[in-house]
Amino acid sequence: MSHDDAAKAQTHSKLVIHNVGLLLSGDMDRPILDADTIVAINGRIAAIGKAKDVDISGATTTIDARGTTLAPGLIDSHVHPVAGDWTPRQNQIGWIDSCMHGGVTTMISAGEVHMPGRPKDVVGVKAMAITAQRAFLAFRPGGVQVHAGAPVLEPGMVEEDFKEMAAAGVKCLGEVGLGGVKDGKTARQMVAWARKHGIQSTIHTGGPSIPGSGLIDKDVVLETDADVIGHINGGHTALPDSQIAALCEKSSRALEIVHNGNERAALFTLRTAKELKQLHRVILGTDSPAGSGVQPLGILRVISMLSSLAEIPAEIAICFATGNTAKMRKLDCGLIAAGRPASFVLMDRPQHSAGTTLLESIRLGDLPGIGMVIVDGTVSTQRSRNTPPATNVPEIVKN
Ligand SMILES: [Zn+2]
Repeated sequence: MSHDDAAKAQTHSKLVIHNVGLLLSGDMDRPILDADTIVAINGRIAAIGKAKDVDISGATTTIDARGTTLAPGLIDSHVHPVAGDWTPRQNQIGWIDSCMHGGVTTMISAGEVHMPGRPKDVVGVKAMAITAQRAFLAFRPGGVQVHAGAPVLEPGMVEEDFKEMAAAGVKCLGEVGLGGVKDGKTARQMVAWARKHGIQSTIHTGGPSIPGSGLIDKDVVLETDADVIGHINGGHTALPDSQIAALCEKSSRALEIVHNGNERAALFTLRTAKELKQLHRVILGTDSPAGSGVQPLGILRVISMLSSLAEIPAEIAICFATGNTAKMRKLDCGLIAAGRPASFVLMDRPQHSAGTTLLESIRLGDLPGIGMVIVDGTVSTQRSRNTPPATNVPEIVKN
């Protein structure tokens, strides 16, 4: 292949988004970028800057953002998928696509535990994890990338099992505590084996979620030392404040706040993390589908709740659900930077909000209006069917 042919192949798709009113990076250290244009080539960000400074020629798709706000696609750090876009938990179809309409472009499974007849023997656990990993890699409802195939720990698992699953593509464990392993000592050993082979871990924190699950208190969480303190605000039943404070202070792991948790405990966690200067550890999830149902706007609702009630600037609260989660979860999405996936959510203040800008409307507790969602350089939806209507919406001017 000549250099010319190689260059042509590389520029097969070129997306230009211009006239961005506010560009949010997802990075807490520098949440707002001084730029109005993004160029993406073959689904990855190639350039960010002022329109006059970047090469916008040869675009295959051009989008006029019409002064709206662009942020990285949101990440839901805690979902319970089962098969495609169906959840048996609430017998609902289309929940992942519906969450995409709430700005979510990436989801992380905390275990496919709602699978009817879920196997609990070791070979069955492994087979199901590998199947889920494969299935969600091949099938992306609404374009959403679901990192699934998250086995829950069952008694009798040995190091070889984690090695085998890692080699097969399994990257994360389901919530420790949802399977048969509930004691800190066994969990710690298995989490260490998983980590050694490159598999991330998360733990159920707090009281039982549904009949059949159990209590995991702060001592078990600290002893297990999973990478993510899953739903530190309970799923739904939270630990006492003193135990949440101890987890913030004594561990350096991610502090995951979920929609389907205790909202008072979420605010307590956030204020504690802020006092300890540990906001970079705060990540967000929905913990849906669950007994509380499915919330297509769940991540937006947590962003708005934390920003408005815990006095967090909206641009920082958005980092919790983007760059923070990406860093803690070792994903390459969630940040606006060259080389990262071109997955974006374009938002504006909702019509008739008391806030005069998008950020102010979030600070006042309103939800953003989504005007467009882009996944890996491709438009997944224009005006969201789920959010309140955005005041301005982007427009595809050339396709
Ligand atoms: Zn849980």
